[in-house]
Amino acid sequence: MTGKKNESDGNAPFWESAPLSRMTRKQWESLCDGCGLCCMEKLEDAETGAIYVTSVACQYLDLSNSRCRVYETRTYINDVCIELTPEAVAKYRWLPETCAYRRVLEGRPLPEWHPLLCGSAKMMKKAGVTACDQAISGESIHPDDLHHFIEYEV
Ligand code: SF4
Repeated sequence: MTGKKNESDGNAPFWESAPLSRMTRKQWESLCDGCGLCCMEKLEDAETGAIYVTSVACQYLDLSNSRCRVYETRTYINDVCIELTPEAVAKYRWLPETCAYRRVLEGRPLPEWHPLLCGSAKMMKKAGVTACDQAISGESIHPDDLHHFIEYEV
């Protein structure tokens, strides 16, 4: 495997040597692979608390590049959008298995296609692991119809 290591102590890269809560803003932001999978619409069963992840992306997610179109103001514009923090990563079990924050929290390595390991998002695109590769745009789906698009329960 090639690529940059982003080393913080001369040996281990920062994501292996610093807990999420100790990362700098720059390190934290670079850990996000930009897959957009955390932006899939979810349904919650009010009685059981079960969460159902759908194949429908948030209406603000640009599916041409898996980026939020309103990133800076997302939590104001969309009242169910949450800002990911170390505490939130520990709490939200619906984060995808590939999510770098989740993996660091669980002490697991980053996926081999992660841009921090490969130096770019090229491998990631090749692996087909982004919302662009899997999602339906939320712009065309009515919220009442989301239950037709449930992919899995967490
Ligand atoms: S799932 Fe994790 S790695 Fe992917 S975009 Fe969301 S926060 Fe970033």
